[in-house]
Amino acid sequence: MSAKGDMCYAWTNDAGIKGECGGAVTSLLKYMLENKIVDMVLTVRKGVDIYDPQPAFITDPAELLKCSGSLHCGTLLLPKLIKKYLNGAKDMKVAITCKGCDAKAMYELAKRNQINMDNVVMIGLNCGGSVTPFMARKMITEKYGVDPDCVFKEEIDKGQFIIEYTDAEGKHQHKGISIDELEAEGLGRRLNCQRCETKIPRQADIACGNWGVFGAKAGKATFVEICSEKGAAIFDGAVKAGVIDTCAPEAKGLEIRGKIENVMIKMGKKAQTKQFTALGEGSAKLAMIMKETSRCIKCYSCIENCPICYCVECSTKKPHLVRPGIIPPDFMFQMIRFAHIADSCVNCGQCQELCPMDIPNSLFMHSQQVELEKMFGHKPGMDMDLPVLAFAEEADERSRLHSTGSDMIYENVFGEEK
Ligand code: FAD
Ligand code: SF4
Ligand code: SF4
Ligand code: SF4
Ligand code: SF4
Repeated sequence: MSAKGDMCYAWTNDAGIKGECGGAVTSLLKYMLENKIVDMVLTVRKGVDIYDPQPAFITDPAELLKCSGSLHCGTLLLPKLIKKYLNGAKDMKVAITCKGCDAKAMYELAKRNQINMDNVVMIGLNCGGSVTPFMARKMITEKYGVDPDCVFKEEIDKGQFIIEYTDAEGKHQHKGISIDELEAEGLGRRLNCQRCETKIPRQADIACGNWGVFGAKAGKATFVEICSEKGAAIFDGAVKAGVIDTCAPEAKGLEIRGKIENVMIKMGKKAQTKQFTALGEGSAKLAMIMKETSRCIKCYSCIENCPICYCVECSTKKPHLVRPGIIPPDFMFQMIRFAHIADSCVNCGQCQELCPMDIPNSLFMHSQQVELEKMFGHKPGMDMDLPVLAFAEEADERSRLHSTGSDMIYENVFGEEK
């Protein structure tokens, strides 16, 4: 019997599954569908090419075989789709593949009662980062000197972004360039991925990845960490049914996995310092945010795609707060978002990648989230703890503000009135 915290190498026994690292994830998803543990799997499949990852809602287990493999050149975030199209899993059971940002978005939606976690199985994928399709094509053309349409596979391994492609003579070639080198030149992973600290998504029921798969199993198995009782039961069921095989992880592999995770977290913190410092401080930072957001065309894409935004009546659409018919919108539009989201931002990058005006919204919001975390200790997306704003009693705060004239309303939450 597995238990939370157990770790092993796992791989599929199904010859039809061609997984990224042994196919254990596809096998687990297939097992859950075939045995009606879930009604649907929400995962990702390749669209027209490797730069086009698309969400896949799957009910036929055979369809899962077409989804195996990891797609790094995309910006998808799946959880809001459960809310939007599957009624928040309130009346069906769903398994979902989750990178760290997906897992954090799941928790934030769940604590706002937008997703029923009792009906969800989260299969976590370790994540070193992803690249936008635009950036992938640009850097493959300019830095790798390869036609991006000739690339049939990409992976991030041992600190390199590696492509496999067909050359002019029809031969298969591969080329890798270190992520450090790419990023020093402004290429490589998304800026939010560079800042990310959630490398092994232990919020999921099971966390899977290639880090730590060492020795004979390297490249042929996935390192599995059991993260919940639900995950343990499903994993044990799949092993018992004979669909996946396991073995104990190599001691060296365990050590390497721990080291890589720590290094990646440190890199994330370093990138935060670098990117946030460049924003400046105080009024200079505000001026820079106002300048950047003055390009806004009020398309609502940031709101539509943010996992924290779900309100039926969004305040940004209230005419007494943001005047209608004016582009760019009043700065209050951005202020509303900052006020409502900053304590809970999971740094998923959606509001930035999908902004048609290339406004670095995620960078602005994440920088504020980190400041709020320093003040209140709340880390979004890690557990079901309520966000800071949930503790603000509006009537009390208004009356305190009225009587003190102070705008430091947050300090009162912890009884530290100054
Ligand atoms: P498979 O059987 O191949 O199944 C993989 C499943 O993941 C499929 O269902 C597929 O649809 C789904 N999937 C593919 N792309 C995405 C995506 N973008 N978002 C959500 N689901 C997706 N492991 C590490 O240890 N270190 C890393 O740095 C690392 N980075 C990763 C980055 C990304 C963007 C992704 C998607 C995965 C990453 N992984 C990383 C996990 C690793 O690549 C394998 O997915 C994992 O080991 C499982 O292998 P498998 O053969 O069992 O999976
Ligand atoms: Fe991966 Fe983190 Fe980027 Fe999400 S934000 S894709 S978890 S590196
Ligand atoms: Fe993601 Fe942006 Fe929302 Fe933060 S504000 S959770 S980065 S969409
Ligand atoms: Fe709700 Fe505020 Fe987001 Fe609008 S901006 S959807 S009001 S959280
Ligand atoms: Fe403005 Fe960009 Fe948000 Fe659209 S996505 S409303 S342009 S900030």
